[in-house]
Amino acid sequence: MDLFEYQARDLFEEHNIPVLAGAVASTPEAAEAAAAKMGGKVVVKAQVKVGGRGKAGGVKLAQDAKDAREKAEEILGMDIKGHTVHQVMIAQAAPIAEEYYMAILLDRANRNFLVMASVAGGMEIEEVAHTQPEKLARVGIDPNVGISQEKALEIVRAGQFPADITKDVADVLLKLWAAFVAEDATLMEINPLVKTEGGRIVALDGKVTLDDNASFRHPNHEALIDHASANPLEAAAKEKNLNYVKLDGEVGIIGNGAGLVMSTLDVVAYAGEKYGVKPANFLDIGGGASAQVMADGLSIILGDPDVRSVFVNVFGGITACDAVANGIVQALEMLGSKATKPIVVRLDGNNVIEGRKILKDAAHPLVQQLDTMDGAAAKAAELAAK
Ligand code: GDP
Ligand code: MN
Repeated sequence: MDLFEYQARDLFEEHNIPVLAGAVASTPEAAEAAAAKMGGKVVVKAQVKVGGRGKAGGVKLAQDAKDAREKAEEILGMDIKGHTVHQVMIAQAAPIAEEYYMAILLDRANRNFLVMASVAGGMEIEEVAHTQPEKLARVGIDPNVGISQEKALEIVRAGQFPADITKDVADVLLKLWAAFVAEDATLMEINPLVKTEGGRIVALDGKVTLDDNASFRHPNHEALIDHASANPLEAAAKEKNLNYVKLDGEVGIIGNGAGLVMSTLDVVAYAGEKYGVKPANFLDIGGGASAQVMADGLSIILGDPDVRSVFVNVFGGITACDAVANGIVQALEMLGSKATKPIVVRLDGNNVIEGRKILKDAAHPLVQQLDTMDGAAAKAAELAAK
C-alpha cells in the first residue's frame, strides 16, 4: 500500500523523524482554517500518489491563510498524471537552504535492502543517477545486520553531504531505518530532505510503501487505506480473499496459480488482437479452489459490466479437474440467474477425463469446453467481440 504524503508525514513524526507541521484539507475553507491555525507562510500541496507534483503545479507557496485558500482552490480538482486531487496538505513553509535525497527500499534482486543518499536532492533521483552518479551513494543493507551508527555515517559521507551536517543526516537515516523496520515498509523516501536556513535538517516530502503481507502485524495500518479510490470490484474481491486485479478489457479470466493466470492474460491479449478485445481482470483462485471460491470468483467477474465473456483456465494438480468441474457446476447453481455471460472452460491435468465429462453431462447452456488454452482463448475472445 502506498501512502499519501500527509500520511507519510504523520508516520515520520511518530518515529521522531524531523518534519514540519502539516494538516490535510479537502476544501478551500478547511485549507484556510488549517493555514490560519499554523500561522505565517504555508505550502499547499496536492495529495496524489504520484511523483512530480511540484513540476505539475501541485505544490504552491501561500503568503497567508487567505492565499492558502486561493491556492487550495486552484489545486483541488486538478489532474496530475491521471490522478484527481481530492485533498491538499497545508504544510508549514520552510526557508530552504539546500535540498537532499534519502531513501530506503527493498532490493528484491539482491535479497536485501538498499539505502540511497545524495546531497543532490529535490529533483528526480533517476536524474541524479544519470547526471551526477558520483553524488548518489547506493549501499546494500543486510536485513540481519541493519544500520549501525558507523554505517549511517559512512553512507552519509558517501552521499557527499557537507561535514557539518553529517551527524544530523546520519541521525535521520537511523530514524528512517527504525521506522522502516517497525512499520514493515518496502519503501521510505524523503525527497527533499532539506537544510533550512537555520541549519535544521527536515523531511519535506515523504513517500512510503507498506508491505501488505505484513498488515496482520499492523492493525493500525487499516486506517491508512484509501477506501474512496478503491475499485469497488477489487474491494469486493478483497473481502472474499480473492487475488483479483481489475484490468480494462472485456474477457473475464479465472485460473488457478498466478503463473497460469499471467500466461492466460498473454494468450487472451494475443487472441483478442483480431477482435479488439483484451483481458478484463487477473484472478487467481489458487490451488485448492472449492466450489465456493469458484462461485465467489465467477460472481465478481460477472458483476463487472465490462465483461462480455469469461475464460476459466484450470490446470488440475492437487485439486484435480473433477473437483474443479464440480466446483464450476455448483458455482453456476449458486449463481443461478446471476450467471449471464458465456463461459469458456479449458481443463487439463490431473483427472482431466473425469472433469470434462462432469461439465459435458451438466450441459449448462452458458458453458462450452475447449481442450487447448489457445483454442479456448480464441473462443473467449470471439464471444467477447459478439
Ligand atoms: P514532488 O514534486 O511531488 O516531489 O513534491 P515535493 O513535496 O518534493 O515539492 C516539490 C518542491 O517544492 C520541493 O523540491 C521544494 O523545492 C518545494 N517545496 C516543498 N515544500 C516546501 C516548503 O515548505 N518551502 C519551500 N520554500 N519550498 C517547498
Ligand atoms: Mn518530492
